[in-house]
Amino acid sequence: TDARQRPALPANSLQVLDRDHLIHPVMSFRGHEKHGVTVLQSASGMFLRDASGHDLLDAFAGLWCVNVGYGQESIVEVAAEQMRRLPYATGYFGFGSEPSIRLAARLAELAPEGLDHVYFTLGGSDAVDSAVRYITHYFNSTGRPAKKHFISLERGYHGSSSTGAGLTALPAFHAHFDVPTPRQHTIASPYPYRNPVGGDPAAVIAASVAALEAKVAELGAETVAAFFCEPVQGSGGVIVPPPGWLKAMREACARLDILFVADEVITGFCRTGPIFACHAEAVSPDLMTVAKGLTAGYVPMGAVLMSDRIYQGIADGLAPEAPIGHGFTYSGHPVSAAVGLEVLRLYTEGGILANGEARGPAFASGLAGLVDHPLVGDARSRGLLGALELVRDKAAKARFDPAVELPRRLFEAGYRNGLIFRAFADGTIGLAPALTCTADEMELLLSRLRRTLDDVLDDAEVRAALA
Ligand code: PLP
Repeated sequence: TDARQRPALPANSLQVLDRDHLIHPVMSFRGHEKHGVTVLQSASGMFLRDASGHDLLDAFAGLWCVNVGYGQESIVEVAAEQMRRLPYATGYFGFGSEPSIRLAARLAELAPEGLDHVYFTLGGSDAVDSAVRYITHYFNSTGRPAKKHFISLERGYHGSSSTGAGLTALPAFHAHFDVPTPRQHTIASPYPYRNPVGGDPAAVIAASVAALEAKVAELGAETVAAFFCEPVQGSGGVIVPPPGWLKAMREACARLDILFVADEVITGFCRTGPIFACHAEAVSPDLMTVAKGLTAGYVPMGAVLMSDRIYQGIADGLAPEAPIGHGFTYSGHPVSAAVGLEVLRLYTEGGILANGEARGPAFASGLAGLVDHPLVGDARSRGLLGALELVRDKAAKARFDPAVELPRRLFEAGYRNGLIFRAFADGTIGLAPALTCTADEMELLLSRLRRTLDDVLDDAEVRAALA
């Protein structure tokens, strides 16, 4: 049943059509030609079924987005009803639609203090891109046009738009794409497991604050527009900073007179416990980007939220009736907005936020319990966002050589054990189960994870690479 080992491909099979015509996100073209893809067919609750009938426990909520699990009928009904009544409504020409208006108001209510204004996008990349455009407009409008430099974290991920890919600091997103631009800069990630200052929380926080201060001093505060960060770095390998880090960075930005942007595309909507990770530390960013859990992946949508200061600065910089040249055909799409309202209702009134919070301790202790495994160097999590970092030498924290192809082996062993997770290029396993996960499903996830690690350890080539 392993699609990756299927031999002959019948003409016009899905595999052939896929190989010949469909470009997949991020996937190597040559790797795609060689390995093909596993076609997913249906899903229910925590489980996916592929075209060969193999059931898989999805420990990654799709792409850390299906926070409410698969098969939520009330979402299907809301979407169908909205499509019947008003499938599309432009936000241009002075038009609006009830779902987009209500969702903006609800988001402003749930968001950190002061983020009262919402612009809807189609996902996270264009939310980040929109944030950069609004920030640029703001500083041009308020008489500080020199503030054009942006700072983000090493191993940060802020999407794949032309600007966001430069704020993203992962090698594959830069190579061959001519980013970062000279206006995009990074500082070291608060990576407790590998921080040169060690893992002590106070030292990690102090190092990040000092790095930001040094970078702003080097560039000149009058030229720096903003610092972008994820409250927990997701695609960089689920790097969990110590509690208090976010607040310290927010306060540093205020002191340094630069804007603080929280990219909550993954951490938002209960992924780390509260509805937004910023709430855990009472942090109010100047802008916040969201997507994924906003509609739980059932339909696409993202948003950028901005404070009244940014909003008023942009408004005052223009003649009263002058348009702001930023807009998408599908901004505030009524079907996506109706789904968003229902998803938010499920989190807050449907018990999903509470269930996710209730599962957090078992998830954390289950991952911590895997640190005794010969392959696991570090286990970390916040809420239901977690990772195991695999190493070939625990004492030296040495990663496996890419030639061992650990991510592929992990993914294939997971597949055989009925488990989906993210196998990062450096050998880290990323986990983000749906917040609807029951106690039994959490146990099943953790037991399949251990079996997967055991199977990979049984692999002669992996064993040979171990220290
Ligand atoms: N920002 C963060 C923190 C993300 O994790 C992602 C996607 O994973 C994005 C932005 C980009 O979002 P999208 O893939 O919806 O464009």
